[in-house]
Amino acid sequence: MTREQKPYSERTTPEQRREYRQRRMRRAKKLHRELIRQLCLDRFKAKKSKTAKPHCAICGKTHRLSELEVDHERGKRWRAKQFRYDARVDRYVEEYKRGVKLRPACRPCNRMDGVARRKEGRVSAAED
Ligand SMILES: [Zn+2]
Repeated sequence: MTREQKPYSERTTPEQRREYRQRRMRRAKKLHRELIRQLCLDRFKAKKSKTAKPHCAICGKTHRLSELEVDHERGKRWRAKQFRYDARVDRYVEEYKRGVKLRPACRPCNRMDGVARRKEGRVSAAED
């Protein structure tokens, strides 16, 4: 006798789904923090920064980890908003492993850089 697999929404309770979602988010936040910490460390090792502490690669100021974002040095050809936070973080990690040039940037710098890049029509070869 074969049992048909019920859809996800029927196999799980709303509480379970909420818990899975929270777990995914917690994991993504942790990965995100680890990646930014790594990017700061990489810059320090490459002597691009005087500090290994969390800092912005654009304005050079130190920040709290939670205030930093992942910036694509040469821009990216995908829209971050298209992805859910956890999928986006997975993508960053995958890009890092692939050697895509990433750097830590504070929110204001990251926004300004993105705007400038779009204005100039600077698009990257970082992503296809
Ligand atoms: Zn900055």
